[in-house]
Amino acid sequence: MEKKMFQKIRCPAKINLFLEVLGKREDGYHELDTVMHGIDLCDTVGVEVNANGGRDNRIALTCTDPSLPTDGCNIAFRAADAFLRRYRITGADIGIHIEKRIPVAAGLAGGSADCAGVLIALADLFGITDREDLLMLGASLGADVPFCMTCGCAKASGIGDILERVRPLTPEWTLAVAKGGETVSTAQAYAEIDSLPEREYRSSERLVSSLGNGDVCSLPDLMFNRFEEIYEKKIPQIARAKHIMLRCGAIAAMMSGSGPSVFGIFADYEEAERACSVLSEEGCLTFVCLPVM
Ligand code: ATP
Repeated sequence: MEKKMFQKIRCPAKINLFLEVLGKREDGYHELDTVMHGIDLCDTVGVEVNANGGRDNRIALTCTDPSLPTDGCNIAFRAADAFLRRYRITGADIGIHIEKRIPVAAGLAGGSADCAGVLIALADLFGITDREDLLMLGASLGADVPFCMTCGCAKASGIGDILERVRPLTPEWTLAVAKGGETVSTAQAYAEIDSLPEREYRSSERLVSSLGNGDVCSLPDLMFNRFEEIYEKKIPQIARAKHIMLRCGAIAAMMSGSGPSVFGIFADYEEAERACSVLSEEGCLTFVCLPVM
C-alpha cells in the first residue's frame, strides 16, 4: 500500500421513472421492476487511506449532516468495512468524509449513492478492477447500490440488482426535484405494500422501449410508482408538488422511490426553475437538475 492515498467522488442521486413491487421472496426481499435515472444532485465522498503499520483496519467517518450516524449504521462505513474484508486488506486506516446534499430518506437513494462512492473510490485506490465482483459486493450492501455504481439510466429487476442499460434522457430535459418536510422510512413503505390487496402488476416494458426510441413525450402515460398511491393519500405535499410542477409546464411529474420526493420532467429549464421557486416558497427543499448520462 502507498503511504497515503486520497480519492474524491461525486455520488449522484436517482429518480425512479417506473417502480412496481412484485412478490416478496422467502428471504424477505421484494422483487422489483424499476427504471432508475441518475440526476446531477450529488453528495461528495472523500476517501483517504493511510497504512497504519499494524494488522488491524480502522474506519473513521465524518459527515456534514449531523443527523446521520458516523459508525457502522452509516452505509458508507459498512461499504468500507465490506470492501476491506472482501479483498483481505489489512493495516489500513480509512477516513471517509461525506458532504451531504441529497435529502435523507427521500426516495432519492442518497445512502446507496454514498455507499457506491466509497466502493468506487476504494477500488480505484487499491487497484481492484473486477467490476462484476465489485457490483456483487454493492448488491450485498443494498438493492440500489449496483445502479448507483453505474448510474445513467437502467431497468433493474430481481431485488434491484439485475441491471439492463436503457437509453438515458438527453440534457435538453431538466428535472425539478422537491421534497417537503416529511420523510418516509423505506422499511415502512415496503410493509405498507405487503398489506395491499392482490393486484395486477404493471410492467416497465413499454416505458423502456419508448426511452429506447428517444420518445420522451410518451413518458406521462407510461411512468408509474406503486408507492405513490399509498403516500399521496398520507402526505398532501406530494399531490401539491405534482400539481405545481405540471402547472409550471412539466410534461410529467411523479413521486420517486418510496417518497416523498417528487420530480417533474421539463422541456424548458426556466419552467423547472419557476416550479422550484414556487415550491421552495411553500417550504420544500428543491433542486433543478440535469439527467446524468
Ligand atoms: P431509497 O431511495 O434507496 O429507498 P432513500 O433516499 O429513501 O433511499 P436514504 O437517504 O438512503 O433513503 O436513507 C435511508 C436511511 O439510511 C436513513 O434513515 C439514514 O439514517 C440511513 N443512512 C445510513 N447511511 C446513510 C447515508 N450515508 N446517507 C443517507 N442515509 C443514510
